[in-house]
Amino acid sequence: MVVLEKAPAKINLSLDVLHKRNDGFHEVEMVMTTVDLADRIELTKLSNNTIRIESESRFVPNDERNLAYRAAKVMKEHFQVKAGVKIFIEKNIPVAAGLAGGSSDAAAVLRGLNRLWGLRASLEELAELGSRIGSDVPFCVYGGTALAKGRGEKIQELPSPPPCWVVLAKPAIGVSTEVVYQKLNINKADHPNTEAMITALNEKDFKGICSQVSNTLEGVTTKLHPEVEQIKEKMRQAGADAVLMSGSGPTVFALVGQEAKLHRIYNSLKGFCPEVHLVRMLGCREKTC
Ligand code: ATP
Repeated sequence: MVVLEKAPAKINLSLDVLHKRNDGFHEVEMVMTTVDLADRIELTKLSNNTIRIESESRFVPNDERNLAYRAAKVMKEHFQVKAGVKIFIEKNIPVAAGLAGGSSDAAAVLRGLNRLWGLRASLEELAELGSRIGSDVPFCVYGGTALAKGRGEKIQELPSPPPCWVVLAKPAIGVSTEVVYQKLNINKADHPNTEAMITALNEKDFKGICSQVSNTLEGVTTKLHPEVEQIKEKMRQAGADAVLMSGSGPTVFALVGQEAKLHRIYNSLKGFCPEVHLVRMLGCREKTC
């Protein structure tokens, strides 16, 4: 038996870091939404009691370091499953990009194994298991648009943004989320108005959403990698309605309301930036779309 799951990338419409907690994690408030750039996860039952990872991408680890592997391990242990599984990951989401590729793969494995092994766990249960793997995994279990609080694991569903296009551009650099957080000075950084972003989403106000995009981590990554600001400037010049870095970067996204502008923005980045994707916002949870 084979089960297929889509693992979509996310972007942060806003990302606020409130303070560092006693447990070492940062307290965050993030408005996240899924886009239709996705990895494809294929789960196949194995008769022996092992977890095997396969991928054609050289950036994807094939052992315990892979978040998809950890997701399978958590499911096996929690539900005391004796069967094994082969996890094939077709990698389409840029790696270490601020798009939660690994977290989304892990979430897809949680949902997929729930079906493959007939476990009938709720999404809430899967999200709780996901929080043991990584802070972005609970959001990825649900997908759609949500406010994530705590260290990212407290999820509150939000209305989807009005339909629009998203241009994603990733410069040829890797960013360590850990280093970005280490270098962040919370008191000096920019902070989004999360309430205003939520109001704009509730009112399906595209202009309002565009005026509220903001990311507390952007200043740190931009200082380390000036390419981020250069991409933002190119996108602005080509007519993007809003531009922002996603997560800890380095991927920058442009929100584009009019199709007419889309190709101009896309073409202005091609040749300048090695990875450019033109995608739609998914915005709502799969089953409600
Ligand atoms: P986030 O936005 O949640 O910070 P990211 O998009 O910046 O995540 P990932 O693509 O998840 O980053 O990859 C970060 C690191 O995790 C990579 O260096 C990679 O080695 C490791 N990794 C573990 N599992 C995966 C996976 N399934 N796909 C890609 N990378 C993975």
